[in-house]
Amino acid sequence: MTSLSGNAPGATWYSDARVATPERGPLTGNFDVDVCVIGAGLAGLTVAREVARRGWSVVVLEANDIAWGASGRNTGFVLPGFACGMDKVVRRVGLDDAKALWALSEAGLDYVRTTIRETGMPGVAMVEGGWLKVSKSDAADNDLATVRLIGQELGGEIEGWPVERVRDVLKSDHYFHAVYTPRAFQIHPLNYALGLADAAEAAGARIFVNSPVRSIDTASVRKWVVTPSGRLRADHVVLAGNVHLGKLVPRLTRTLTPVWTYVMTTEPLGGRLDTAITFRGAVSDSNFADNHYRIVGGDRLMWAGRVTTWQRDPRRLARALRADIAEVYPQLGPVAFEHIWSGVSGNSLHRMPQIGEVSPRVWLASGFGGHGLNTTAMAGDILARAITESDDTWRRFVPFELVWSGGVIGRAAAQVHYWWYRRGERGRAREARRREAEFGRGEQPSTDHVLGDKVVPGRWRAVS
Ligand SMILES: Cc1cc2nc3c(=O)[nH]c(=O)nc-3n(C[C@H](O)[C@H](O)[C@H](O)COP(=O)(O)OP(=O)(O)OC[C@H]3O[C@@H](n4cnc5c(N)ncnc54)[C@H](O)[C@@H]3O)c2cc1C
Repeated sequence: MTSLSGNAPGATWYSDARVATPERGPLTGNFDVDVCVIGAGLAGLTVAREVARRGWSVVVLEANDIAWGASGRNTGFVLPGFACGMDKVVRRVGLDDAKALWALSEAGLDYVRTTIRETGMPGVAMVEGGWLKVSKSDAADNDLATVRLIGQELGGEIEGWPVERVRDVLKSDHYFHAVYTPRAFQIHPLNYALGLADAAEAAGARIFVNSPVRSIDTASVRKWVVTPSGRLRADHVVLAGNVHLGKLVPRLTRTLTPVWTYVMTTEPLGGRLDTAITFRGAVSDSNFADNHYRIVGGDRLMWAGRVTTWQRDPRRLARALRADIAEVYPQLGPVAFEHIWSGVSGNSLHRMPQIGEVSPRVWLASGFGGHGLNTTAMAGDILARAITESDDTWRRFVPFELVWSGGVIGRAAAQVHYWWYRRGERGRAREARRREAEFGRGEQPSTDHVLGDKVVPGRWRAVS
């Protein structure tokens, strides 16, 4: 139906606990609306809800089902920021504009929390508890710089955690210091998307599923959008189809690299889990692809990692994911999984989202990569204001242009980069553990770090 098969068949942890939803059918006949949104993932649904709340008529056309793509299959971490590191954002746009972008990313996070609370949507299983980004190496300079930049320059809430505090809650000698983001939280993303669809409809939006858009005539003032069983005319079109838009808009599709991530949930681990993890927030132990995890259902691990730029059968990755768990937490012993699945994100080259007007009254909300829960909400609000109020906040994303992602060679290069990065990361982690074994804890050789006016001596200390 769409150009990429984003999803492996089979149940996910989320689909097993999916809330009941109203029957929705395909578009039939002719419609005339103010805004047509293509794609009922989190980006498209948020735009639709916000446009409808402002009194405009809006239709969402979805090729498959609501949150069929990454939106219903992700790990459910709602974080501030972007897939692109804020240091790179500052280098691209300067400190003042980076500060404004950081605030928008936090507004996206607030949007998700507020929407869940205000609508009382069921089954979202919101868990507060923050996000711990753990280092597998004892080199703290980059993380100190991140804490300083976000905490002191950008106005975010962030803390540095020393190794003792990390290992108190994550009982692994693979882990050293960490950066803690207290405002982050976790959700059941599929039920959030379904709740968002209900909220959009309650505001007046109409949503049609099994309605793949086959063509758009963007040249005329009123745009024709055609599906196999219907068509509509709209003043504005919003492209929110992520990496699945394919031949509908090849020029845009070519700006994204598809990246699959593999996720599994374990059997109930009972008391075993407390021997390894007592932290109830979300955890990532890499800057890049491995490992991201959290506790779901009371005593199960949801564990994600092992990215690929070509789709693989997730069952073939099960052994590797289990080995990743065993490496970090050998005390858990053999761990069986009950669900394993994959999902695909669209990564732009600069890893910032693509938000803005690509031709007159044709809008793009895409490229959220693996950091889409806050940024899709942010984009939905920004584009709704652009369309209905001519607000120009979207122009803050203009410096992050639409860049060709390199086609097949770009995908291959991204895969090689991932393998290379993972290898380097493992080497640095091994070295750090060797140093610790040799010099002992508390005696690790390291330099003093300067954090603002403070000098942080020796090893990493709490610097919140
Ligand atoms: C495994 C995994 C884990 C992740 N974990 C996290 C996380 O913990 N935190 C976080 O912030 N982000 C995470 N992400 C990223 C996040 O899930 C995505 O960035 C976000 O869901 C993208 O939403 P979207 O609406 O842009 O796209 P999608 O959810 O892909 O939705 C696009 C929709 O458009 C539809 N569509 C496409 N073409 C057409 C067409 N021609 N006609 C009609 N409909 C069309 C598709 O069918 C699809 O339903 C993760 C992603 C993956 C894959």
